[in-house]
Amino acid sequence: MKLNKKPKHIVILTGAGISAESGIMTFRDSNGLWENHSVYEVASPDGFQRDPELVHRFYNLRRQQLLSGEVHPNPAHLALSKLQEKFNGIVTIITQNVDDLHERSGSRNVIHMHGELLKMRCIETGRSLTIKKDIHATTPCPCCLKEGNLRPHIVWFGERPMHMDKIDTELHSCDLFVAIGTSGHVYPAAMFVDTARERGVQTIEINLESTQISDSFDFHLVGNASVETEKFVEELLT
Ligand code: NAD
Repeated sequence: MKLNKKPKHIVILTGAGISAESGIMTFRDSNGLWENHSVYEVASPDGFQRDPELVHRFYNLRRQQLLSGEVHPNPAHLALSKLQEKFNGIVTIITQNVDDLHERSGSRNVIHMHGELLKMRCIETGRSLTIKKDIHATTPCPCCLKEGNLRPHIVWFGERPMHMDKIDTELHSCDLFVAIGTSGHVYPAAMFVDTARERGVQTIEINLESTQISDSFDFHLVGNASVETEKFVEELLT
Protein backbone atom coordinates (compact mmCIF):
# COMPACT_ATOMS: atom_id res chain seq x y z
CA MET A 1 0.00 0.00 0.00
CA LYS A 2 1.65 3.23 -1.18
CA LEU A 3 -0.25 6.33 -0.14
CA ASN A 4 0.19 9.40 -2.40
CA LYS A 5 0.83 11.67 0.55
CA LYS A 6 1.11 11.46 4.31
CA PRO A 7 -2.37 11.93 5.86
CA LYS A 8 -3.12 14.46 8.59
CA HIS A 9 -6.76 13.60 9.31
CA ILE A 10 -7.89 9.98 9.11
CA VAL A 11 -11.53 8.90 9.33
CA ILE A 12 -12.07 5.22 10.14
CA LEU A 13 -15.49 3.59 9.72
CA THR A 14 -15.87 0.27 11.52
CA GLY A 15 -18.57 -2.38 11.17
CA ALA A 16 -19.55 -5.67 12.76
CA GLY A 17 -16.51 -7.40 11.17
CA ILE A 18 -14.07 -5.65 13.53
CA SER A 19 -15.82 -7.19 16.54
CA ALA A 20 -16.25 -10.66 14.98
CA GLU A 21 -12.90 -11.88 16.36
CA SER A 22 -14.04 -10.75 19.82
CA GLY A 23 -16.90 -13.27 19.57
CA ILE A 24 -19.76 -10.94 18.57
CA MET A 25 -21.59 -12.34 15.60
CA THR A 26 -21.91 -10.13 12.50
CA PHE A 27 -25.25 -9.66 10.82
CA ARG A 28 -24.11 -11.07 7.44
CA ASP A 29 -22.62 -14.19 9.00
CA SER A 30 -25.99 -15.15 10.43
CA ASN A 31 -27.81 -15.48 7.07
CA GLY A 32 -29.94 -12.38 7.37
CA LEU A 33 -30.98 -13.29 10.90
CA TRP A 34 -29.51 -11.56 13.92
CA GLU A 35 -28.85 -14.21 16.56
CA ASN A 36 -31.80 -16.21 15.11
CA HIS A 37 -34.26 -13.31 14.92
CA SER A 38 -35.55 -11.52 11.86
CA VAL A 39 -34.00 -8.05 12.07
CA TYR A 40 -37.41 -6.44 11.58
CA GLU A 41 -38.69 -8.30 14.65
CA VAL A 42 -35.97 -6.94 16.92
CA ALA A 43 -34.60 -3.88 15.13
CA SER A 44 -37.52 -1.81 13.91
CA PRO A 45 -39.95 0.61 15.60
CA ASP A 46 -42.86 -1.61 14.44
CA GLY A 47 -41.27 -4.69 16.00
CA PHE A 48 -40.87 -2.83 19.30
CA GLN A 49 -44.47 -1.64 19.25
CA ARG A 50 -45.69 -5.17 18.48
CA ASP A 51 -43.67 -6.98 21.14
CA PRO A 52 -41.57 -4.76 23.44
CA GLU A 53 -40.76 -7.64 25.80
CA LEU A 54 -39.21 -9.68 22.98
CA VAL A 55 -37.13 -6.70 21.84
CA HIS A 56 -35.93 -5.98 25.40
CA ARG A 57 -35.08 -9.67 25.87
CA PHE A 58 -33.03 -9.62 22.66
CA TYR A 59 -31.00 -6.56 23.74
CA ASN A 60 -30.73 -7.86 27.33
CA LEU A 61 -29.01 -10.97 25.95
CA ARG A 62 -26.68 -8.92 23.69
CA ARG A 63 -25.82 -6.70 26.70
CA GLN A 64 -25.24 -9.70 28.98
CA GLN A 65 -22.86 -11.17 26.38
CA LEU A 66 -20.97 -7.88 26.14
CA LEU A 67 -20.60 -7.68 29.93
CA SER A 68 -20.01 -11.40 30.47
CA GLY A 69 -16.23 -11.17 30.75
CA GLU A 70 -15.89 -13.40 27.68
CA VAL A 71 -15.90 -10.54 25.16
CA HIS A 72 -12.77 -8.41 24.93
CA PRO A 73 -11.32 -5.91 22.45
CA ASN A 74 -9.17 -7.72 19.85
CA PRO A 75 -5.89 -6.56 18.25
CA ALA A 76 -7.81 -4.52 15.64
CA HIS A 77 -9.51 -2.38 18.33
CA LEU A 78 -6.19 -2.06 20.18
CA ALA A 79 -4.32 -1.03 17.01
CA LEU A 80 -6.83 1.77 16.35
CA SER A 81 -6.51 3.06 19.89
CA LYS A 82 -2.72 3.04 19.48
CA LEU A 83 -3.11 4.96 16.22
CA GLN A 84 -5.27 7.58 17.96
CA GLU A 85 -2.65 7.94 20.67
CA LYS A 86 0.51 8.05 18.55
CA PHE A 87 -0.50 9.49 15.18
CA ASN A 88 0.68 13.01 14.50
CA GLY A 89 -2.72 14.29 13.35
CA ILE A 90 -6.42 13.58 13.85
CA VAL A 91 -7.90 10.08 13.94
CA THR A 92 -11.70 9.92 14.09
CA ILE A 93 -13.47 6.60 14.62
CA ILE A 94 -17.05 6.28 13.38
CA THR A 95 -18.61 2.94 14.24
CA GLN A 96 -21.77 1.19 13.17
CA ASN A 97 -21.27 -1.15 16.12
CA VAL A 98 -23.33 -0.86 19.25
CA ASP A 99 -20.75 -2.63 21.44
CA ASP A 100 -18.23 -0.67 23.53
CA LEU A 101 -15.08 -2.48 22.41
CA HIS A 102 -13.46 0.64 20.91
CA GLU A 103 -13.87 2.48 24.22
CA ARG A 104 -12.62 -0.54 26.20
CA SER A 105 -9.48 -0.63 24.06
CA GLY A 106 -8.82 3.02 24.96
CA SER A 107 -10.18 4.84 21.90
CA ARG A 108 -11.62 8.29 22.52
CA ASN A 109 -14.51 10.30 21.05
CA VAL A 110 -15.92 7.31 19.17
CA ILE A 111 -18.95 8.30 17.10
CA HIS A 112 -21.64 5.63 17.54
CA MET A 113 -23.86 6.28 14.54
CA HIS A 114 -26.18 3.32 15.28
CA GLY A 115 -26.40 3.84 19.04
CA GLU A 116 -25.04 1.97 22.05
CA LEU A 117 -26.03 -1.30 23.69
CA LEU A 118 -25.21 0.00 27.17
CA LYS A 119 -27.68 2.88 26.91
CA MET A 120 -31.46 3.21 27.06
CA ARG A 121 -33.52 6.20 26.05
CA CYS A 122 -36.66 7.71 27.54
CA ILE A 123 -39.32 7.79 24.83
CA GLU A 124 -40.91 10.86 26.42
CA THR A 125 -37.93 13.13 27.15
CA GLY A 126 -35.40 11.74 24.66
CA ARG A 127 -32.76 11.53 27.43
CA SER A 128 -30.31 8.64 27.21
CA LEU A 129 -29.04 6.81 30.27
CA THR A 130 -26.30 4.23 30.82
CA ILE A 131 -27.91 0.95 31.86
CA LYS A 132 -26.15 -2.35 32.46
CA LYS A 133 -28.96 -4.45 33.98
CA ASP A 134 -31.85 -6.19 32.22
CA ILE A 135 -34.78 -4.06 31.14
CA HIS A 136 -38.37 -5.27 30.72
CA ALA A 137 -41.45 -3.74 29.12
CA THR A 138 -42.66 -2.87 32.63
CA THR A 139 -39.41 -1.39 33.99
CA PRO A 140 -40.06 2.18 35.22
CA CYS A 141 -37.95 4.77 33.43
CA PRO A 142 -35.46 6.40 35.88
CA CYS A 143 -36.02 9.66 34.03
CA CYS A 144 -39.83 10.11 33.84
CA LEU A 145 -40.64 7.27 36.32
CA LYS A 146 -43.28 5.81 33.98
CA GLU A 147 -43.45 2.12 33.05
CA GLY A 148 -42.81 1.17 29.42
CA ASN A 149 -41.08 4.42 28.46
CA LEU A 150 -37.58 2.98 28.07
CA ARG A 151 -36.34 1.86 24.66
CA PRO A 152 -32.89 0.63 23.58
CA HIS A 153 -30.63 3.52 22.46
CA ILE A 154 -30.22 1.79 19.10
CA VAL A 155 -30.92 3.10 15.61
CA TRP A 156 -33.46 0.72 14.11
CA PHE A 157 -34.33 0.15 10.47
CA GLY A 158 -36.11 3.21 9.11
CA GLU A 159 -34.60 5.57 11.73
CA ARG A 160 -32.06 8.30 11.10
CA PRO A 161 -28.53 7.46 12.27
CA MET A 162 -27.11 9.60 15.07
CA HIS A 163 -24.50 12.38 14.78
CA MET A 164 -24.90 12.79 11.01
CA ASP A 165 -23.89 16.48 11.08
CA LYS A 166 -20.63 15.66 12.83
CA ILE A 167 -20.01 12.73 10.47
CA ASP A 168 -20.58 14.95 7.46
CA THR A 169 -18.04 17.47 8.77
CA GLU A 170 -15.51 14.66 9.30
CA LEU A 171 -16.03 13.26 5.80
CA HIS A 172 -15.55 16.73 4.34
CA SER A 173 -12.33 17.43 6.20
CA CYS A 174 -10.45 14.09 6.24
CA ASP A 175 -7.62 13.22 3.86
CA LEU A 176 -7.71 9.42 4.35
CA PHE A 177 -10.81 7.24 4.70
CA VAL A 178 -10.61 3.64 5.96
CA ALA A 179 -13.49 1.14 6.27
CA ILE A 180 -12.93 -1.95 8.43
CA GLY A 181 -15.25 -4.99 8.58
CA THR A 182 -18.31 -3.48 6.98
CA SER A 183 -20.34 -5.11 4.20
CA GLY A 184 -21.65 -1.93 2.58
CA HIS A 185 -25.25 -3.13 2.84
CA VAL A 186 -26.41 -0.60 5.41
CA TYR A 187 -27.02 3.02 4.33
CA PRO A 188 -25.98 5.79 4.74
CA ALA A 189 -22.69 4.30 6.05
CA ALA A 190 -22.21 2.49 2.74
CA MET A 191 -22.01 5.87 0.98
CA PHE A 192 -19.33 7.45 3.17
CA VAL A 193 -16.54 6.14 0.95
CA ASP A 194 -18.03 7.90 -2.06
CA THR A 195 -18.43 11.18 -0.15
CA ALA A 196 -14.74 11.06 0.75
CA ARG A 197 -13.62 9.90 -2.68
CA GLU A 198 -15.48 12.71 -4.48
CA ARG A 199 -13.08 15.06 -2.70
CA GLY A 200 -10.04 13.14 -3.94
CA VAL A 201 -9.45 11.49 -0.57
CA GLN A 202 -7.55 8.17 -0.63
CA THR A 203 -9.61 5.20 0.54
CA ILE A 204 -8.71 1.84 2.07
CA GLU A 205 -10.93 -1.18 2.74
CA ILE A 206 -10.00 -3.85 5.27
CA ASN A 207 -12.23 -6.93 5.01
CA LEU A 208 -12.13 -10.72 4.88
CA GLU A 209 -13.58 -10.61 1.36
CA SER A 210 -14.61 -8.17 -1.31
CA THR A 211 -17.86 -6.33 -0.67
CA GLN A 212 -20.45 -4.62 -2.83
CA ILE A 213 -18.64 -1.30 -2.27
CA SER A 214 -15.08 -2.61 -2.84
CA ASP A 215 -14.85 -0.87 -6.23
CA SER A 216 -15.01 2.51 -4.48
CA PHE A 217 -11.74 1.92 -2.61
CA ASP A 218 -8.19 2.63 -3.83
CA PHE A 219 -6.57 -0.06 -1.66
CA HIS A 220 -7.84 -3.41 -0.36
CA LEU A 221 -6.28 -5.16 2.60
CA VAL A 222 -7.86 -8.61 2.52
CA GLY A 223 -7.80 -10.73 5.67
CA ASN A 224 -8.77 -10.73 9.31
CA ALA A 225 -9.25 -7.24 10.75
CA SER A 226 -6.95 -8.09 13.69
CA VAL A 227 -3.98 -8.87 11.42
CA GLU A 228 -4.58 -6.33 8.64
CA THR A 229 -5.42 -3.40 10.96
CA GLU A 230 -2.27 -3.99 13.03
CA LYS A 231 -0.14 -4.05 9.87
CA PHE A 232 -1.81 -0.93 8.49
CA VAL A 233 -1.31 0.97 11.76
CA GLU A 234 2.36 -0.04 12.01
CA GLU A 235 2.91 1.16 8.44
CA LEU A 236 1.24 4.51 9.14
CA LEU A 237 3.23 5.06 12.32
CA THR A 238 6.64 4.32 10.79
P1 NAD B 1 -22.29 -6.80 8.35
O1 NAD B 1 -22.64 -7.91 9.29
O2 NAD B 1 -23.28 -6.43 7.30
O3 NAD B 1 -20.94 -7.18 7.59
C1 NAD B 1 -19.80 -7.62 8.28
C2 NAD B 1 -18.61 -7.49 7.36
O4 NAD B 1 -17.44 -7.80 8.11
C3 NAD B 1 -18.66 -8.43 6.16
O5 NAD B 1 -18.31 -7.69 4.99
C4 NAD B 1 -17.58 -9.48 6.48
O6 NAD B 1 -16.90 -9.95 5.33
C5 NAD B 1 -16.64 -8.69 7.35
N1 NAD B 1 -15.90 -9.49 8.34
C6 NAD B 1 -16.38 -10.52 9.10
N2 NAD B 1 -15.42 -10.99 9.92
C7 NAD B 1 -14.31 -10.23 9.66
C8 NAD B 1 -12.99 -10.22 10.18
N3 NAD B 1 -12.58 -11.09 11.14
N4 NAD B 1 -12.09 -9.33 9.68
C9 NAD B 1 -12.47 -8.46 8.69
N5 NAD B 1 -13.71 -8.42 8.17
C10 NAD B 1 -14.61 -9.29 8.65
O7 NAD B 1 -21.89 -5.58 9.25
P2 NAD B 1 -22.11 -4.02 9.05
O8 NAD B 1 -21.66 -3.63 7.68
O9 NAD B 1 -21.48 -3.40 10.24
O10 NAD B 1 -23.69 -3.79 9.11
C11 NAD B 1 -24.57 -4.54 9.97
C12 NAD B 1 -25.39 -3.74 10.97
O11 NAD B 1 -25.63 -4.61 12.10
C13 NAD B 1 -24.71 -2.53 11.53
O12 NAD B 1 -25.60 -1.48 11.42
C14 NAD B 1 -24.46 -2.79 13.01
O13 NAD B 1 -24.98 -1.74 13.81
C15 NAD B 1 -25.25 -4.02 13.34
N6 NAD B 1 -24.45 -5.01 14.12
C16 NAD B 1 -23.60 -4.59 15.12
C17 NAD B 1 -22.83 -5.50 15.83
C18 NAD B 1 -21.91 -5.00 16.92
O14 NAD B 1 -22.19 -3.98 17.54
N7 NAD B 1 -20.77 -5.65 17.18
C19 NAD B 1 -22.93 -6.87 15.51
C20 NAD B 1 -23.82 -7.28 14.51
C21 NAD B 1 -24.57 -6.33 13.80
